[in-house]
Amino acid sequence: MSTVKFLTIEERLNVNAWDTDIYRPHIKIKDQEICRKCEKKPCTYMCPAKCYVQQGEIVVLSTEACLECGTCRVVCPYDNIDWNYPRSGFGVWYRFS
Ligand code: SF4
Ligand code: SF4
Repeated sequence: MSTVKFLTIEERLNVNAWDTDIYRPHIKIKDQEICRKCEKKPCTYMCPAKCYVQQGEIVVLSTEACLECGTCRVVCPYDNIDWNYPRSGFGVWYRFS
């Protein structure tokens, strides 16, 4: 009898690989002053890769583990995210298993 092992989201994400463009992040926060006034800061809990971390009133963005899903751009209520795909050859490499 075969058994099926279901992977957690973290296990699924861990099989991916990234070529990070450290010199040109593909996503930027436009204005931290707007983040200070953003009451719910949805980027900090809607990003599946936890790229946005609240530190006091501001938000710190690290794009190294970005999945290029576009969620942050959609949920930001102030259009405060400058979102682009990574340059050719950089970004996430999905590995399906
Ligand atoms: S949702 Fe937009 S405005 Fe609000 S904290 Fe995040 S980046 Fe800043
Ligand atoms: S594109 Fe997706 S994974 Fe990347 S920072 Fe935005 S919400 Fe997070």
